[in-house]
Amino acid sequence: MPIKNQFSELYEHIKSWRHHIHQNPELLYDTIHTSKFVETKLKEFGCDEVITGIGRTGVVAIIKGKENKSGKVIGLRADMDALPIQEQTNLDYASKVPGIMHACGHDGHTAMLLGAAKYLSDTRNFDGEVALVFQPAEEGGGGAKEMIDDGLIEKFNIQEFYGMHNMPGLEIGQFSIKSGDFFAAADTFTIKIIGKGGHAAKPQETVDPVLMSSNLVMALQSIASRNTNPTKDVVVSICTFLTDTVSFNVIPEMVTLKGTLRTFDKEVQAIAKDKIFSLSKSIAEAYGGKAEIEFNYGYPVMKNSNDATEIAKTVAEKVSGKNTVSAEKIMGAEDFSYMLNATKGAYILIGNGDTDSVHSPTYVFNDEILPIGSSYWAELVETKMQLKK
Ligand SMILES: [Zn+2]
Ligand SMILES: [Zn+2]
Repeated sequence: MPIKNQFSELYEHIKSWRHHIHQNPELLYDTIHTSKFVETKLKEFGCDEVITGIGRTGVVAIIKGKENKSGKVIGLRADMDALPIQEQTNLDYASKVPGIMHACGHDGHTAMLLGAAKYLSDTRNFDGEVALVFQPAEEGGGGAKEMIDDGLIEKFNIQEFYGMHNMPGLEIGQFSIKSGDFFAAADTFTIKIIGKGGHAAKPQETVDPVLMSSNLVMALQSIASRNTNPTKDVVVSICTFLTDTVSFNVIPEMVTLKGTLRTFDKEVQAIAKDKIFSLSKSIAEAYGGKAEIEFNYGYPVMKNSNDATEIAKTVAEKVSGKNTVSAEKIMGAEDFSYMLNATKGAYILIGNGDTDSVHSPTYVFNDEILPIGSSYWAELVETKMQLKK
């Protein structure tokens, strides 16, 4: 595998950085220790600038190439946050923090980008500037957006962004990408169905929110099958169904439903949102109850631009020595979408091999992919901002 030789030499270091971050996982914006670790390493490597506190705990390093005639600045992004999961891997470097685990491999993403920072700072074989962006709060906190709101793009004049995520189930070191729509928009909603509670044996004296909510859960599935264009993707999932009593013989006053809407198309998103409101209200009313709905827009659609996808693909094939797999659209969401929406660029997946899925307590990031991922970053910079001979 033609990974850069330097990364074979750096492998033990990159691995030890990952294991250190893995043992000390932090949630959302609380990546205090991780950000400090990243900052210290970046300064040690001799990056030209290391800036902290962008998007609360985000860290950015600037590395200038041997030449800077191109005027190009590209952003490479890694996420740093962990998940509220109790680790069950029995690894010797397992999480030391009860209930928190790097179960999405962001420890690996951070370590791979640190590896690239060390290489790029040592070699500088490119014409332009690289901004290495280490962001907090990918897992639901919108850390990418906070960094952008703090002036990330303008401050460093970033014109293009590249991102990478590991992918269980895809062969080790195999890359996968698609241009255009890639990850879905993910919105959330809470529906309160309010009735009248009472004795389970006297249902005629109640307005049963369990019956109303059960009907509603079924009806919401007609959005995908009957209200939106069948050639366009949409998922409506109810994930919480909570009564306000726990009993065998009390009909509750209220049921709370929580769910998510996943779409790629703005029109489909608007239709589905309208239907969530109208079905909730009309079903509740039909049974004599009422509905209160709260809808929150989440991460937008993540879209790879065509030219950036082509470059990412070429680089990935050079590094892995394998054809890149064409990826399918993913109904999951990724806040890197904010960076791609603000500029352009591409997000690529790197195979993690046959491991348990991300967000599972037994998931393990595969150390074998560390030098491949770091090589991808380095090669991308040298290809995108090639030195003129
Ligand atoms: Zn995740
Ligand atoms: Zn992730």
